[in-house]
Amino acid sequence: MSSSTYTHHFDTPTYNASVTLDTGLFINGEFVQPVDGGTIDVINPTNGQVICPVSIGNAKDIDIAVKAARTAYKTSWGLKVPGAERGRMLSKFADLVEEHSEELAALESLNVGKPFAPTKMFDIGSVIKTLRYYAGWADKIQGKTIETNDAKFCYTRREPVGVVGQIVPWNGPLYLTAWKIGPALAAGNCIILKPSEFSPFTALRIAPLLNLAGFPPGVINIVNGIGSQAGQAISEHPNIEMVSFTGSSLTGRKVLEAAARSNLKQVTLELGGKSPTIIYDDADLEQAVKWASFGVFFNMGQVCCAGSRIFVQEGIYDEFLQKFRDVAKSLKTGDLFDPTTNHGPQVSKIQFDRVMGYIASGKEESAKLETGGVQIGTEGYFIEPTIFSNAKPSMKIAREEIFGPVATVFKFVDEKEVIDLANDTSYGLACAVFTKDLKRALNTAHGIEAGTSWVNMASFLDHALPFGGYKQSGLGRDVGEYALEQYTQLKSVHFNLGIEL
Ligand code: NAD
Repeated sequence: MSSSTYTHHFDTPTYNASVTLDTGLFINGEFVQPVDGGTIDVINPTNGQVICPVSIGNAKDIDIAVKAARTAYKTSWGLKVPGAERGRMLSKFADLVEEHSEELAALESLNVGKPFAPTKMFDIGSVIKTLRYYAGWADKIQGKTIETNDAKFCYTRREPVGVVGQIVPWNGPLYLTAWKIGPALAAGNCIILKPSEFSPFTALRIAPLLNLAGFPPGVINIVNGIGSQAGQAISEHPNIEMVSFTGSSLTGRKVLEAAARSNLKQVTLELGGKSPTIIYDDADLEQAVKWASFGVFFNMGQVCCAGSRIFVQEGIYDEFLQKFRDVAKSLKTGDLFDPTTNHGPQVSKIQFDRVMGYIASGKEESAKLETGGVQIGTEGYFIEPTIFSNAKPSMKIAREEIFGPVATVFKFVDEKEVIDLANDTSYGLACAVFTKDLKRALNTAHGIEAGTSWVNMASFLDHALPFGGYKQSGLGRDVGEYALEQYTQLKSVHFNLGIEL
């Protein structure tokens, strides 16, 4: 049964184009309707209006997708296809994404409210680079020969895991999808991908490009759906061998529990954070202010590694705060397609209410509101970039992930104090440190309990470096060479050359 399509006509003062996408489920290389015919409305976050309905699948659709993936794995993918060939398809897919980068960026902007220019440059740019990076890896996934004292020839092989489930959030829909499908395909796995129910557009738009790139039917199946239905069905499916999840720590726990209860599938979790930005008094202040602002306000604060706790050494505290307020106030909201716009809405009413709830709690707990704290306009889910100071580390705004444009600034005295303060969190995703003192930079970068440390920069992700969390920010690593380890399993082969019993 075929599915429906939707055509969006972009008609803004700075962008005019039409884009058509299929709105069904992509299973076994074609768009189909869900078994139970479910749909969900996709909402435009700039005005709260429905854009169009799209299909949502449930456990029955996930089961159909798993069967297609398993058949593909046995007949036309996995180790049946040489790495060089898998790499060639990934490379072709990257070229196709590049050809369509404008419409993909436009769809992402429409769906989640990201300003168009940075979306094209950072999000879609990252997708293309990530796919090319893993295209290059596909024929370089190797085992080792291992010498032993016995008369045998021993070696290891890296084999695909099999059928993997990949669950993606809404804050970076397409680039986080590329982070997952790139290494999984390079390593020879088949995929059941579930986009966030809030942000399915770009995942739906790449489906025909996957066919054009030559991936056999069933290798990648895209089943949009509600987390507690389709997502849960992936986590507990007995014929899915691994689930790679990016999202909140709360949901990550549910995925891990379901995986443990079902078939002990492997799990990787990329979860939330409450990352510190540490600015010593010898830092290049102008640069530190710009990076700190980028670190917390980029993508309207909807970044897992957002530097939402900003620690500033006492000697430069007042000057930093003044300049930081000025940068926050200068961020510009408006037509998302205007190249000067760099601040959009929160993704949904739920997120808008959540973030406004945190702002209210900051005020109630008597943190000082330096700027922002209110909705911009009356339509959609726009919130002014917000800065609190005079907060206590025990306050909610200082402890919980807000996932919005809200920074809390603290004053500190010395290195030891700030490392202790920064580590006083259950999260451990990232940190950024600003100083010209090499020894202090390294001490701090190494002393913070986090999976990523930036020195004199912030929130600048790179597909070539492993990304993941310490503590409750996750399990395992996405991207880089390390992701290939997650998407392969290691077999040891002992070949007898003369041992007799
Ligand atoms: P979420 O946990 O609500 O949803 C993430 C995904 O999980 C969605 O696709 C959702 O449908 C699905 N889901 C929901 N319930 C499920 C269940 N019971 N079983 C299986 N899947 C389920 O998170 P979100 O609001 O979409 O995203 C924001 C969160 O993601 C933040 O906490 C953020 O820090 C985190 N995040 C982490 C990284 C990282 O790399 N560490 C990157 C981006 C976002």
